Amino acid sequence: MSMPQVDYKESELYRIRHSAAHVMAQAVMEMFPGQARIAIGPPIDDGFYYDFELPRALTPEDLQAIEARMREIIAEDHAFERQALTGDEARRLFADQPYKLELIAGLEAGGQDEYGAEIAGKPEISIYRDGAFTDLCRGPHVERTGMINPSAIKLMGTSGAYWRGDEKNPMLQRIYGTAWKTAEELEQYVWRQEEARKRDHRKLGRELDLFSVSEEIGAGLILWHPKGGMLRKVAEDYCREEHERGGYQFVYSPHIGRAALWEISGHLGWYQENMYAPLDIEGQAYYLKPMNCPFHIQIYKSRTRSYRDLPLRFAEWGTVYRYERSGVLHGLMRVRGFTQDDAHLFCRPDQMPDEIDRVLAFSLNILRAFGFRDFQCYLSTMNPKKAAGTPEQWEAPTEALRMALERAEMPYRIDEGEATFYGPKIDIKVNDAIGREWQLSTIQFDFNLPERFNLSYVGEDGQEHRPYMVHRALMGSMERFMGVLIEHYAGAFPAWLAPLQAMVIPIADRHVEYARQTAARLKEAGLRVEVDERNERMNAKIRDAQMQKVPYMLVVGDKEAESGQVALRLRSGDNPGAMPLEAFLARAQEEVAARR
Ligand SMILES: [Zn+2]
Ligand SMILES: [Zn+2]
Repeated sequence: MSMPQVDYKESELYRIRHSAAHVMAQAVMEMFPGQARIAIGPPIDDGFYYDFELPRALTPEDLQAIEARMREIIAEDHAFERQALTGDEARRLFADQPYKLELIAGLEAGGQDEYGAEIAGKPEISIYRDGAFTDLCRGPHVERTGMINPSAIKLMGTSGAYWRGDEKNPMLQRIYGTAWKTAEELEQYVWRQEEARKRDHRKLGRELDLFSVSEEIGAGLILWHPKGGMLRKVAEDYCREEHERGGYQFVYSPHIGRAALWEISGHLGWYQENMYAPLDIEGQAYYLKPMNCPFHIQIYKSRTRSYRDLPLRFAEWGTVYRYERSGVLHGLMRVRGFTQDDAHLFCRPDQMPDEIDRVLAFSLNILRAFGFRDFQCYLSTMNPKKAAGTPEQWEAPTEALRMALERAEMPYRIDEGEATFYGPKIDIKVNDAIGREWQLSTIQFDFNLPERFNLSYVGEDGQEHRPYMVHRALMGSMERFMGVLIEHYAGAFPAWLAPLQAMVIPIADRHVEYARQTAARLKEAGLRVEVDERNERMNAKIRDAQMQKVPYMLVVGDKEAESGQVALRLRSGDNPGAMPLEAFLARAQEEVAARR
């Protein structure tokens, strides 16, 4: 079932994009003869960029002209030719290109590649020529410019970029481009980009009044508004019920703990850069918790555990704080405080395969309930240079994780040697509605903490044994998961998740009383309902409810009030029309229960 491991850097697409970056740089240099200074131009995930120092700011018209010239250069079908050079030869060639001279110096010193990025060793200095253009470059490239599909390239925009990412250096102009094999792939990509902009959870979070960040409180700290709070509560309530059914026990733990705890856990040793400075309480240092594990371990250790007590599954919606640079904070996706749907499993070695099966099935079921269908699983195995425990100790858990994936019939990829030092793990990534991949769940073995905290249970033989410990978070961070959900659904949540499920819309003032009765009946039956009593025209109210992505709009006028009906409209624009209130209720309840 293992998926083929295609390294992007060895793919044809990577060579196409790298080559397109050269073609673009040539077009820009021709636009500003003798004036353009070129910096670096690497391929990136979905395309490529190149940084330039130019005599003036680029306009959208410039980009069009550059793109047109790129197509001509492609049609000229120049061969890409590599040549190795000495440092002196390279300096002569790039005498009027100060950024390249700096990069050549880095190549000569070693430890840097031709983009100034850190690498091991000292690469040979080489250039690639295609026609009139020459770049300091290690490749790889396509053989000829003609191998770039001219109808599958597009320049996406510009931005400012400091030379070497350092704000003390000059600001350069970066042009972003993308290149694909076919025009259809390009079209798909452009569509995904536009769709992603429309779905941006920060924009939808404002429009739907879900959450905000307050400068007074601080960056990366999220405020959940009533609607976002309801969305999160519904998601959490559902998960809590599933956890109870799945044999988890809920625990609660504090937000801070003494330095001594984090010393034993090792966090002060290997995780301190992600932790905030300590608080002083009566002369003792306390740290905000970056993880919940040591707390759950203390609960485990609070009494002697027998083999009959295991497995134990401690779950907590635990809020943790981790340092992130302000520059990388991003809406709900990168924050400084977040709540994990965290759990720690403690079991006997003989229980472990079954435990892993259970936790994997449990994770996938919950992700499916939230509407995710496409999963990629990654199994990370031991890195022999950096591992707690022996290869023999790693074998059984790694095999248990692999067998669980096989039994669940999940396609998976093995990331050989990619595990963290404390144990093998499964990562589950999901594809959202527009095909983007998000890492959500982790099932992580731990050989380290049971050792450090000297965990034990009394076996059937009366002797002390070390339990297995597994960390597991399904949504990871509730903040990020909510962000992914907002983007996945573009804010149009299925009825079971929608913060407001139905809006009752009276046509005129005289229908308000009936609208209120209708809402009261639906609320009593467990639906989340409001009445739009504003003095607005019916069409405006419908439009507003649609903008708020309310799944059901119930219009009530004379006819409905007389006959005990509601006229149902859906946010999709469908218009099922008048029906008895109880018939609507049955339909809504069924859709909510089915989580459609
Ligand atoms: Zn190159
Ligand atoms: Zn943990």
